Amino acid sequence: MEHKKVADVQLYINGEFIHAAGSGYFDNKNPFTNEVINRIAKGDRSDIEKAATAAQEAFLNGPWGSMKLKDRMMYIERIADLIDEEVDEIAILETLDTGLPISQTRKMVGRAAENFRFYSRMVQTRMHGDAYQVDDEFINYTVYQPLGVVGLITPWNAPFMLTTWKIAPALATGNTVILKPAELSPLSANKIAGIMKKAELPKGVFNVVHGFGETAGDALVKNEKVKAISFTGETTTGKTIIRNAAGTLKKTSMELGGKSPLIVFDDAEFERALDAAVWGIFSFNGERCTANSRVFLHKNIKDKFVSKLKERVDNIVIGDPAAPETQIGPLIDHSHFNKVSGYIEMAEEEGCAIYQGSVPEAVKAGNFVPPTLLLEASNDMRICQEEIFGPVMAVIEFETEEEVVRMANNVEYGLAGYVWTNDIKRGHRVAQAIDSGMLWVNAQNVRDLRIPFGGMKASGIGREGGHFAIMEFYTEPKAIHVAMKDHHIPQFGKKK
Ligand code: NDP
Repeated sequence: MEHKKVADVQLYINGEFIHAAGSGYFDNKNPFTNEVINRIAKGDRSDIEKAATAAQEAFLNGPWGSMKLKDRMMYIERIADLIDEEVDEIAILETLDTGLPISQTRKMVGRAAENFRFYSRMVQTRMHGDAYQVDDEFINYTVYQPLGVVGLITPWNAPFMLTTWKIAPALATGNTVILKPAELSPLSANKIAGIMKKAELPKGVFNVVHGFGETAGDALVKNEKVKAISFTGETTTGKTIIRNAAGTLKKTSMELGGKSPLIVFDDAEFERALDAAVWGIFSFNGERCTANSRVFLHKNIKDKFVSKLKERVDNIVIGDPAAPETQIGPLIDHSHFNKVSGYIEMAEEEGCAIYQGSVPEAVKAGNFVPPTLLLEASNDMRICQEEIFGPVMAVIEFETEEEVVRMANNVEYGLAGYVWTNDIKRGHRVAQAIDSGMLWVNAQNVRDLRIPFGGMKASGIGREGGHFAIMEFYTEPKAIHVAMKDHHIPQFGKKK
């Protein structure tokens, strides 16, 4: 992909782009060529401390904390407008940085501005407390107050979209923010910093500290000034963060890995189920938390479905992620390529038949894994139990509803699930029986921003989206009790 030179990236702290305290940089590579795109400032503990001091000052003494709601929302909406102006540029950077096909990054980035507009509306209309009349003696009421400085830690797989899911509710509710983006996808996070500067957000309200998880991320989690961590990433990292957050007793929100089932019954609308199964694992290069990586096919339709899956796999366009026709691009980096390839080898050892597309010779410098079917899989294989996070679909046959529900649930994760059937009773029944945070019946993963997003079991704790983000995570509900009469107060120690 031809692209104009991308400048080195600095940290963004207290409204300024600055070098990391240690002055170090790390290389950022293009997954399509494995060549260096630019260098990224390597933040560490002292940069996190600097950002936390700035963010705390902005919260306690800056204008942000005391700003009128409508003025704060003007900033939120200005951010949305600025994103809209830069959608094309951000999408190109995201593709360059991650290898996600440009047709897909354009759509994702195009929706990000709406996250800000949505939370502007949400905070103005939905973030209200309750009042409780207690006989004629008391009135109790609740208010929702921001937490203070919040830390956001994000992954590389859909960086801009996921980051804005967190920034929009965090800022709209009045918090100040430190973002630690994934080291493998820093470019769009740097763009957000630029947008915040253009929007003239008061200094210290929004900060970005690039760097590694084990240093910058770790310091953010352990920093005393930071009141909460919203994390999206791998389950093992989430466990580490929860342990490390315990030292300062932080609130945490966890959006973690998945191994989601897609179940096709023999009465399902065949072509639509096929489209959804293919899109749900091969879009975003399969690096998708809600990917339907386990596809359960009823035995009556299995052979026909598999032969159609093979046809699709043969025809998926693999290539330069910047080309508009590309459907699958390269994986994020070489070590992830090795991990995904290792699982395909493991599938063969575990007894699967492998069916793959082929990667064109011309693009072999990139981290390409072709779309892959792991056929004749059984649910207890490691390739059906562990998150592969690539364009790899395991196909499992089933006969009865009871059997498929048992297999779908027999996994550590519980993020998403998809059920295809024309039997309305069965659709609801199976959706309700599957242990996942989100289920779709006769639908692919289409999401309304009002709906809670997140998983159960090893896929997460808490929900993002809708009023859940603003009322259950980014604010503290406070109860105020007011006496209206002289109620009884015990008089300890009073002389009779
Ligand atoms: P990781 O868990 O490797 O990294 C996520 C973020 O955490 C990165 O910024 C990383 O920094 C940082 N980090 C790593 N170690 C620590 C630490 N000890 N303390 C603080 N921060 C740390 O996830 P990936 O980036 O590999 O993302 C892919 C994963 O994300 C998949 O498992 C996927 O399922 C999940 N995901 C879940 C979603 C959901 O909503 N449930 C949505 C999207 C993805 P660095 O980059 O430097 O390592």
